[in-house]
Amino acid sequence: MKKKARLFDKLEENKVRCHVCANECVILPDKVGICRTRKNLEGELYTLIYGSMISSGSLDPIEKKPLYNFWPGATAYSIASIGCSFKCQNCQNWSISQANPTDNGKKGFYDLKGYEDRGMSLVEMTPEQLVKKVIKSGAKTLAYTYNEPLIWHEWILDTTSLLKKENIKTILVTNGYSTLEATKELIDVGIDAANIDIKSMSDEFYKTICGVKSVQPVLDTAKRFKSHGIHVEITNLIIPDLNDSDDEIGTLSKWITENLGEDTPVHFSAYHPDFKQPSLKRTPFETLDRAYEIAKKEGIKYVYVGNLSHEKGGNTYCPNCNHLILGRSGYSFTKIDISESKTCPNCQYDLSKDIKGEIKR
Ligand code: SF4
Repeated sequence: MKKKARLFDKLEENKVRCHVCANECVILPDKVGICRTRKNLEGELYTLIYGSMISSGSLDPIEKKPLYNFWPGATAYSIASIGCSFKCQNCQNWSISQANPTDNGKKGFYDLKGYEDRGMSLVEMTPEQLVKKVIKSGAKTLAYTYNEPLIWHEWILDTTSLLKKENIKTILVTNGYSTLEATKELIDVGIDAANIDIKSMSDEFYKTICGVKSVQPVLDTAKRFKSHGIHVEITNLIIPDLNDSDDEIGTLSKWITENLGEDTPVHFSAYHPDFKQPSLKRTPFETLDRAYEIAKKEGIKYVYVGNLSHEKGGNTYCPNCNHLILGRSGYSFTKIDISESKTCPNCQYDLSKDIKGEIKR
């Protein structure tokens, strides 16, 4: 659905500059930005995906986002659109993130042909219709996920403000490549939680693998979200030979403890070859186990391992006495051993500041 965009400047010769993400595209008349979802029409910027979703929503365990310390065990009503501000060579959702539709002006504003060819078509909703669906589902949280939500800025602001009135928590699963202006609007509207993907600490990685300039905007977004009370968890997908050295993992872990705090959970996730396959190898268990130990040694209290079975990496332990608080197998609990007030039953350590929301027992 087409809607006038927020956060753009008008430039000479009917060009515009978009400030929704840190690409800050300068867009010529009749052209779209890097994400392909924002178009310059006669010197005004429009989002083309307002209320446009790849389905009417699905119900996922919140652990799938992944969020392990925010409303553990909750169901996340999950919605996604198309497009992305990155062009990651390893994208696992490339069929939606890198879809390349064209505007033919016949089937409404947006030509869906590119998606129908892949067995998809977009569902369109108003914010009110979405909220009704979420309420009916019984989910207490909603996640903007699967494609990059930051490019869905206007839709996120409008839906989050309505969802807040219904006491439904909102979650961004994001690459974090935001601008100061967009981040401020997301904080002001009251986003509750974010899983931010820090893909590497190296600009070179962001340039060659993701097609953007630098990691810095991602780090800035994580810091701003965290300092304004948004619950933040970090994901780091480890790709063999590209970002798997002790040095890379240590630098990331140190940055997290020094800038976000040792209470910020980190998820090390296994890569498998997909899309343009920047590595042909899968991430071995030993690499993830090594990452787990490095992050623990660096002082991160909650370290997790994803996309691969790891004895400790799915569990939440008391950071004071190492008592098993939440045992998991996949996305399900195998054990819950924490008091209603979220103290450790073994040492009475208070986990309430680190584990947010209700634990679904
Ligand atoms: S959202 Fe980002 S990628 Fe899309 S047009 Fe705006 S600055 Fe460019």
